[in-house]
Amino acid sequence: MPQMRVAVAGAGIAGLTLAVALRRAGIDCHLYEQAERLTEVGAGVQVTPNATRLLHRLGLHERLQAVAVAPRAIEMRRWDDGRLLQRTELGDLCRRRFGAPYYTVHRAHLHGVLLSLVPPDRVHLGARLTAVTQSADEARLHLSGGTTVTAELVVGADGIRSVVREQIAADRPRYSGQTIYRGLVPAHRVPLLAEDPRVRLWLGPDRHCVCYPVSSGRQVSFGATVSASDWREESWTARGDGTELAAAYAAWHPDVTRLIGAADTVSRWALHDRESLDRLSAGRVAVIGDAAHPMLPFQAQGANQAIEDAVVLAACLADAGPDDLGAALRRYERIRLPRTTRIQQRSRANAAVFHLADGDAQRRRDASVQASSGLERHEWLFGYDPEQATTTSRS
Ligand SMILES: Cc1cc2nc3c(=O)[nH]c(=O)nc-3n(C[C@H](O)[C@H](O)[C@H](O)COP(=O)(O)OP(=O)(O)OC[C@H]3O[C@@H](n4cnc5c(N)ncnc54)[C@H](O)[C@@H]3O)c2cc1C
Repeated sequence: MPQMRVAVAGAGIAGLTLAVALRRAGIDCHLYEQAERLTEVGAGVQVTPNATRLLHRLGLHERLQAVAVAPRAIEMRRWDDGRLLQRTELGDLCRRRFGAPYYTVHRAHLHGVLLSLVPPDRVHLGARLTAVTQSADEARLHLSGGTTVTAELVVGADGIRSVVREQIAADRPRYSGQTIYRGLVPAHRVPLLAEDPRVRLWLGPDRHCVCYPVSSGRQVSFGATVSASDWREESWTARGDGTELAAAYAAWHPDVTRLIGAADTVSRWALHDRESLDRLSAGRVAVIGDAAHPMLPFQAQGANQAIEDAVVLAACLADAGPDDLGAALRRYERIRLPRTTRIQQRSRANAAVFHLADGDAQRRRDASVQASSGLERHEWLFGYDPEQATTTSRS
């Protein structure tokens, strides 16, 4: 459908990946982003083989490799004595098994890598979407300041508070009762956690902490959850109180307390998700990424699923004839919904599994994670190829 006009709300990981994938398919699109500038915010993100495979095919192999770290393993440990509960080998083993690496990356670097393939005149900054309307022939983005943009297809890549999603569902984000403190520490302050790169998790009663190196190994990114009923803020730049964080983890293993203590500043983020949808489009409007299926970060898949969505949607649109938009969008949601719903639900369930109190249930969990180490456990997640699924759905 080469002449189709596509307007995308949001230039996050979902919107930018869609722009790159559509361009590869010969479809032009414009992105409308509320931020005035695309600046460096946030901390780390784990990009798993199911998504790095797609980024490589989009032509981002070298650019991604230049900023990423390839951890050698994922390690889960007990919160107090640091005893190893489970180790999953990554590195070359992962590359060989899944044909793509497992990376840890600074969010802003991933953003920059994607942006490098989007022509600057296709990204409209300071363009905040306030409403979407549509008729049989076109959809309209209404932007703050009174501008209206028309297109044959509007894609909502506008995150968990999506305005575009209102065309599809009348739901609201759900607070999980968890907040997460995030920080970036210069690698030289925590050499033991930076050298021999690994994704490290410590699991304990009511909270857990995860860390990994980013920025080609120059920084270590961490996220430490704390339950709180009264905190609702979602912003990569909302300041957290380092003293409160240190108090919450005071009795934890010294590797954790040293890491937390080494951060100059921490941000704090209230964790929300939403119920799964039974469709991802309505008329001339579709949603991808967090706008479609915001999930808790306890499986590190939100951005990875956004990348999968973008690639599948672009392929469905590229395959469709000029009058087949409806069929293309139905195909997109048929391919994506079973997978994203499963991952959304598992991410929610992981909160309870990670945060068990010391006792029998925790001991049973530890025995089961010890028994299940190994990459084969992740086959369904990392081995999945959404482009292959799209090809299969053609026949
Ligand atoms: C603590 C934490 C850790 C995480 N770790 C991982 C991880 O390791 N791996 C992983 O895969 N995922 C992870 N995630 C999830 C991941 O960050 C998100 O799933 C991902 O950023 C979603 O990308 P997106 O582009 O859909 O949405 P967003 O990143 O929210 O981007 C939406 C964009 O739309 C813009 N926008 C919003 N509203 C409007 C509007 N009205 N008009 C115009 N523009 C608008 C925003 O400014 C933004 O640029 C984590 C999330 C959290 C909170």
